[in-house]
Amino acid sequence: MPPPRESVRVTFDGQAMETTRGGSLLQAWVESGRALIDNVGCMGQGVCGACRVLVRRAASDEVVTALACETPAEEGMQVAAIDYFSAHRPHAYDLHALPADAADETLVDAVFPEAKHCRHCSGCDRACPRGIEVQAMVNDAAAGSIAAAAERFDHCVMCNLCVAACPEDIDPAHLGQFVRRVQAAQSPIPGDLDARLRDIEAGGQAIRWPQPTEPETP
Ligand code: SF4
Ligand code: SF4
Repeated sequence: MPPPRESVRVTFDGQAMETTRGGSLLQAWVESGRALIDNVGCMGQGVCGACRVLVRRAASDEVVTALACETPAEEGMQVAAIDYFSAHRPHAYDLHALPADAADETLVDAVFPEAKHCRHCSGCDRACPRGIEVQAMVNDAAAGSIAAAAERFDHCVMCNLCVAACPEDIDPAHLGQFVRRVQAAQSPIPGDLDARLRDIEAGGQAIRWPQPTEPETP
């Protein structure tokens, strides 16, 4: 005889729902039978950062940020989905035209001059559901240590919660993306990727699209 199914009750976007204990908040939403049309990307793989939520636990006054796919539902939890936060201003750059002789510090300052205005409040660290040292990344980048900053940001899922948390509008998520891109652009292409690109350019790996099927005649 199977063990009894244990359940917990949560409130998600103002709607009460009951879900299997041990399941995630994302599963709670799905189990409730509601359509999953917003704040979803990788369907629980923990790689897209789309399922941003604010969470308040039953015995706490604190509201914290989290990813719904990684957060187990707990009895009495209150949950609210939050939107994507765009960058406060566009950051234009061309990775193919990076000046070879520019110091990394100059490079970051040209695109993200706001990075040097960090007030070390740790708001971004507290907001990050991935435990990334966002503040340290921002400070590394502002100091011109692009490789160190990029490494800190390796596991960022671009949920953008740090963007919402920053009182200086530094857009840490976008700065992190920038330093990772610069780091990749300045690094040698991996040998197997280089070989494959050359093979494609030489016609060795032709892409064959499926032929469109003829519509059936009535
Ligand atoms: S660094 Fe920012 S965007 Fe990346 S996972 Fe953390 S909060 Fe999300
Ligand atoms: S939230 Fe903004 S100002 Fe505060 S530590 Fe992070 S980057 Fe600096």
